[in-house]
Amino acid sequence: MQNFEYFAPRSLPEALALLENTGQKVKILAGGTDLIAQLHAGRAQPAIIIDIKNIPELNRLGWDADKSLHIGAAVPISTVVDFPYFQQRFGMLHQGCSLIGSTRVRNRATIGGNVCNAAPSADSAPALLCLGTKAFVANSRGTRVVPMLDIFRGPGKTSLAANELLVELEIPAPPAHSAGCYLRHTPREEMDIAVVGVAAFLVLAPHSKTCQEARIALGAVAPTPIRVPTTEALLAGNSLNKELITQVAEKTAEAASPISDIRSSAEYRRELVRVLTRRALKAACVSLDIQIESGD
Ligand SMILES: Cc1cc2nc3c(=O)[nH]c(=O)nc-3n(C[C@H](O)[C@H](O)[C@H](O)COP(=O)(O)OP(=O)(O)OC[C@H]3O[C@@H](n4cnc5c(N)ncnc54)[C@H](O)[C@@H]3O)c2cc1C
Repeated sequence: MQNFEYFAPRSLPEALALLENTGQKVKILAGGTDLIAQLHAGRAQPAIIIDIKNIPELNRLGWDADKSLHIGAAVPISTVVDFPYFQQRFGMLHQGCSLIGSTRVRNRATIGGNVCNAAPSADSAPALLCLGTKAFVANSRGTRVVPMLDIFRGPGKTSLAANELLVELEIPAPPAHSAGCYLRHTPREEMDIAVVGVAAFLVLAPHSKTCQEARIALGAVAPTPIRVPTTEALLAGNSLNKELITQVAEKTAEAASPISDIRSSAEYRRELVRVLTRRALKAACVSLDIQIESGD
């Protein structure tokens, strides 16, 4: 591993000043569960590392008056997963986060790190996309708010500049009559990377079985996690039933552009998108008290 200088600032202004003055060869360290492996493999070779775990502003975890949740970039995933009402209000994100690594990994790792590492397979990303998450990104001159979709630029690439860091994520309260589900496929039950991940989120029109709004997001089938607006539009305004869900699952598979790699062929990934989309939509329907006939 290449030598580097290590800083552990105690405030956000101190961290931002360090970032501003150190140029391109700097890396932020949150939980380190991605970064330390990258250092060992020589895939990251920073001259300076800034550890953000001791920064109080980045350890904030709490609800706003309007019930949106703020998750600081240094908060461990295990703390978020156990946070009161988190599972109840953001079930699909709870499912995604609970799949990341093991208990030991989640005790160190952060959702911010999962986002900033920008793996197409990141298990928190599809649910964050469906839930309309905003990222608060700061440099020494101020803070900007970035929709989650605009964070991801490619494998390992985000839209953050070298002098910026992610401060926190804000997840708005889901609308009434809504539910979602995240499912992934991995060859092993645990400690494995998603071959495909699918999140589906439905909002019902009041007192009906008509879908008012749908959001579908996919992981590991493109250079970044993606939303699928074409098939979301097929659901919106229509009554939820087996035929519609089957059609949406097929069209979502067609809309995906997976690659073949060491973990899967493109064809297998596309088939997984079809099956998991169907299952995730059905699970969201069940949470909304709509029973859909079973299939694959
Ligand atoms: C055994 C094992 C199993 C794993 N299993 C899974 C899994 O099932 N699913 C999955 O999605 N991931 C998995 N991972 C990957 C990893 O644990 C997650 O991506 C984790 O959420 C990363 O968070 P971290 O805090 O450790 O990030 P770090 O390693 O600290 O950082 C990751 C990257 O993000 C940057 N970064 C971190 N925080 C910020 C910030 N605030 N602002 C700007 N840049 C920042 C860092 O510079 C680095 O480039 C696994 C890792 C291991 C070691």
